[in-house]
This record gives sequence, C-alpha cells and structure tokens, in this order.
Amino acid sequence: MPTQTPTLEIAPHPPAPFLTPTSDRLFADALDLLPGGVSSPARAFRAVGRTPIFIDRAEGAYLHDVDGHRYIDYVLSFGPMVLGHAAPDVVAAIGGAAGRGTSYGAPSVPELDLAREIQAAMPHVERIRFVSSGTEATMSALRLARAFTGRDKVIKFEGHYHGHADLLLVQAGSAVATLGLPDSPGVPAAATAHTLVATFNDLASVQALFDAFPGEIAAVITEPVTGNMGVVAPADGFLEGLRAITAADGALLIFDEVMTGFRVHPGGATALTGVAPDVVALGKVIGGGLPVGAYGGRADVMARVAPAGTMYQAGTLSGNPLAMTAGLVTLRTLRDTDAFARAETAATTLADGLRALAAQAGVPVQVNRVGTMLTAFFSDVPVTGWATASASDTNRFAAFFRHVLAGGVYLPPSQFEAWFTSSQHGEAEVARTLGAMGAALRSLS
Ligand code: PLP
Repeated sequence: MPTQTPTLEIAPHPPAPFLTPTSDRLFADALDLLPGGVSSPARAFRAVGRTPIFIDRAEGAYLHDVDGHRYIDYVLSFGPMVLGHAAPDVVAAIGGAAGRGTSYGAPSVPELDLAREIQAAMPHVERIRFVSSGTEATMSALRLARAFTGRDKVIKFEGHYHGHADLLLVQAGSAVATLGLPDSPGVPAAATAHTLVATFNDLASVQALFDAFPGEIAAVITEPVTGNMGVVAPADGFLEGLRAITAADGALLIFDEVMTGFRVHPGGATALTGVAPDVVALGKVIGGGLPVGAYGGRADVMARVAPAGTMYQAGTLSGNPLAMTAGLVTLRTLRDTDAFARAETAATTLADGLRALAAQAGVPVQVNRVGTMLTAFFSDVPVTGWATASASDTNRFAAFFRHVLAGGVYLPPSQFEAWFTSSQHGEAEVARTLGAMGAALRSLS
C-alpha cells in the first residue's frame, strides 16, 4: 500500500514587497550633493511618484541596480544603446582607443570614418560638424540657419524637445501663430522673441506663420518622428508639406534626428519617409553611448561653418576619439548585421502584445511605434500630436510604471517619453516584459 503523504495546508505566498533601500539611501545623499539628486531632470522619477533607482552596471538588455534587482531596460540611456549595454565590440574598441589617448584637440582618423559612415546612411549629409551633445547640435544648426538665410525667426513645434538652448526652451501649448514665451526662469524673453510655435501634424499652422512673417523665417526645426511627447508619427504628407513650404519661402528645413537617427530606420527619418532636410541634427546612437552630437547637411549651407565660413562654433572635445570610435563600431554593426532588424522585431512584438493585453484587460491604451521606438499612451483616442498626447492619463501611467518596475521592467519615468529596444531584446525578454505588463494592466482595470 502506498504511503499516505499528509497534505499540508500552504498559505498563499504574498508577493515580496519591492524594496530599494540602498537606492533610497543613496538618493538621500544625492539630494545634498546634486540639485534634485540627479544630473538631469528626467531621471528624477518625479512624474511616477517614487525616487530613482541607482544603477550598478548594465549588460545587453539588462540594468542591475545597487540593491541586486535586475531589470529589462527600455530606457537604454534615453536611446543611444541600440546594440544593448556594454556591447563587447563597442567596449573593446573604446578600450583600444583609450590606450591611444582620450582627447587630442587635433584632427584624427575616426572623425573621417564616422563622417563617411553617417554619409553612407544619410546621403543628404554632405558635410558634418561633430559636437558633444544633442543640445549643441540643434543650437548650432539654428545659428547656422540664421547665418545662412540672414533671418532671425525660427519655427518649432509644441511638444518637441530639442535640448536646453535658450532659444528652444519655449513652452508648447500656446495658441498657434503667437510668439513664444520662455519656458524656464533664466531665459530672457529676448532669447525666445524670435521663436514661433506651430502644431505638429498641422501644416496650416506652419503656413499661417509663413504668411504672417514672409521672408523672415530662417528655419523650421522638427523632430521628424516625434519622440519627446512620446512617439508620434508624422501624418501622411506632413514632412513633404514642410519641405515645400520652407523651400517656397527660402527658409531651411532642419530635422532634429538626435533621437530618431538610426532608431526609426537605419537611415533615419529621411530613409523612412523620403523627405530630406537641408540640415540634420544628430546625437545619441552616433556616439555609441559616449557624449556626442553632430549637425550636417547641404555642402553650401555647411560652408558657412567656421573655419570654412564665418558662423562661429567650436568645442574642446568635439570629434573626441573615444566617442567617434564607439559611434563607428555601432553604426558599422547596424550596417553589417541584423542588429536593427532584431531591435525592431522586439519593438513590434512588444507593441502588438501590449495592445492585445490592454484590450483583454479593458484598459484604454494607444501604442504608437516607429522602428525601434514606441510609447503606450493611457488614452482612449489615437495620439497624433501634443493635444492628444497631453490628454493621456498620467496617473494611470505612473501606476503602470511602478507595477512593471517591481516586475523587473525599467521604462522611461514619464508618459511623454519614447521607449527603446535594442538588438539584445530577444524573445525571452519581450515575453517577460509582456508578462509584467499584463499583470500591471489587470491591476489597473
Ligand atoms: N533633440 C532631441 C530630439 C532629443 O531627444 C534630445 C535629448 O533627448 C536633444 C535634442 C538634446 O540632446 P542632449 O540631451 O544630448 O543634449
């Protein structure tokens, strides 16, 4: 007779609380050292109602925090790490470059190699100037447009972020065709007096500004695919319309591809849409995770940049050999392997899975995806611009964020950010992510 095993009553196991004591202690220290405890505001987690996580190390698709938690990372340093963290080829190349000296203040071959690599992917970039951040890239591109056209006014779109240069820190949301007001104390009204704000995906709002100020507008700057209100694709014909309106008035069209470059397509938004700007601003991916930016475009326009021309712009660390080398290996890997396709597959699978889970849970969610960038908006209407994006339920997003964080998924800590995938986000990572997101959505429904 088989031995009877006694049945034990096992109490249901409550989920372990998600605690981050070391991060919490470090953040308390940080508050006494850094303004708001961080080196850049988006990291402070204020929009999601908790304090930030301190990162110990990162590998592939994963972040490891100082409390021993591991997360699948969809921030990826806000975009650059398209090959995942600590990609062995990139790390080895940086090590090799560092051994040859970390900065020269003199020309070096990696600048030429990276320039050629960018040109191969973006043929409209006939000349390029390397800088050290995306902010420097857009700020310099606009100075160039003003120098080239001899005009002062510029148009940006509400909800678009181009870095923190004074002239671009203009609050979105005011009525179309009004002059912009500074978005931050410390920015004099004079600095934004020539900044006009239009509505993304609304060509009439752009035409109205050109009608009001004919021959006075130096440039229109746009994120060709918006990332900084969350991901919003350009409507059919929108970029073509911008191209036509600017050309007709003698203004320049500037694509800010700091985020979208090598993210929406291996050739950026121009390869995706067929619309070429006069000048493009780049950053993030082209530095492979090291500080970098660039602006480039038409040879006749770039000929105004010093020392070829008189538009002054310079930088001690510009063309830094480590950043050039990290960017070069990253772009070559995107060109020669299926890395981009793998990252895009992860983004597509995640977007499709999330839509299905939200529908099952009965939670209204709009998932916008272009290439390797996506955003889930907690909204019941399609998100096509700032008006619809800003109407999203940010409290629901914050609750979702905290839930998936505890489940091992690290999202950008705001409703109005793009999520990024890398070539290291495989099927297993996406499946785990969807598991955590499904649980979070059920808890919200
Ligand atoms: N332009 C866009 C579209 C961006 O997303 C960013 C940063 O997120 C910038 C410019 C500014 O770049 P950086 O933070 O390197 O100065």
